[in-house]
Amino acid sequence: MTEPTENTPRPGTRPTPGRNLGIFDKQQLGRCISCGFCLPACPTYALTGEEPSSPRGRITLMRALETGQLPEDDPTLAEESSYCLGCRACETVCPAGVEYGSLLEQWRDHQWQGRNRPWIARLLMALVSRPALLRLQGLVRRHARGGGADTSANAPHPALMLGCVERGLYPKVSRAAVALRPELTVPARQGCCGALHAHNGDSTTGAAMAHALGARLPGTLVTTAGGCAAHLAHHLGRDRVRELSQYLDETGHRPTGQVTVDGRRARAALQDSCHLRNGLGVTRQPRDLIAAVADYVELPGAGDCCGAAGTYAMLRPSDSRAVLDPKLEALARLEVDYIVTVNPGCQRQLHQGLRRHGSRVRAVHLAEFLAMAAGSPPTG
Ligand code: SF4
Ligand code: SF4
Repeated sequence: MTEPTENTPRPGTRPTPGRNLGIFDKQQLGRCISCGFCLPACPTYALTGEEPSSPRGRITLMRALETGQLPEDDPTLAEESSYCLGCRACETVCPAGVEYGSLLEQWRDHQWQGRNRPWIARLLMALVSRPALLRLQGLVRRHARGGGADTSANAPHPALMLGCVERGLYPKVSRAAVALRPELTVPARQGCCGALHAHNGDSTTGAAMAHALGARLPGTLVTTAGGCAAHLAHHLGRDRVRELSQYLDETGHRPTGQVTVDGRRARAALQDSCHLRNGLGVTRQPRDLIAAVADYVELPGAGDCCGAAGTYAMLRPSDSRAVLDPKLEALARLEVDYIVTVNPGCQRQLHQGLRRHGSRVRAVHLAEFLAMAAGSPPTG
């Protein structure tokens, strides 16, 4: 959101031959052909209309950093590495296969060191790194607990991963998931998957945490958080990880009952999870499941970021609200009863936004929605 300065390179600036600081993967950074196809997909570019706030503009900035054309303390570099939502919408339209999400992680690994990392991110990363504190959340608010004793990698039943945010804010979600699929084991002593670290400038620790969790939990990992699913799948392989709607779809789950409001079938829309949609390509499964128990209504821009974006809503609340507001207006026009989410961050963002706008629309997680339909809503 900073105005381009006279030092800000023009779109398409290529690295100076012979100079390379090794901040970025050279091949990944070189892949961008500066075509600009990604600009219309980018939520921050939509807000500002300024090149540095676009994927192409940010890649140009990364190249300038890599080649020393811009100094490390350049304010545009700091601003744009933070202003980017990390939603990866740009990846889905890129004809050159630029892995923007990886480049952003490399950028923040370099840019967000020490005190340059926002203090809220540092605090949250410290919290989720301490298993005792995560377990304490389970004492304060009762999340799902199962037998969970089997930690063999060949365990017959998939393990439900308890996300750090979800187990604290939305413990009903894991209970609903287990109510739907009692075969899920819920091993105790789960840690964090490391997505928070990877998105906030410490991708090495983020990868180590994903592998540690993969070693701790048996067989297939099922998660109710789209962001965790994408991070874990990246590090453990897609075969090991299923987001809940994927798991239900693949195992032939047939939702039962229906969700009603005032005696009629409820109208419900979906808010996609960016990383589930843009990283793993999962879009049909949650829609099918909702449509089985309610009248499904497609929210225009359902695939656009809601502004939650991990820690973004806490780090940049007014920008986060600017991203969310058009979605709330679209929701108001849609006249739905529920907006269903597949990620706890989206649920929190929508819940708070809807409350701020005095809306009667309720934000619920898919697991709760299906459990509600089955007539077994988890009790709080
Ligand atoms: S669409 Fe891909 S290749 Fe084209 S400018 Fe954007 S990132 Fe670069
Ligand atoms: S990750 Fe999202 S906000 Fe960032 S450049 Fe890509 S589309 Fe824009």
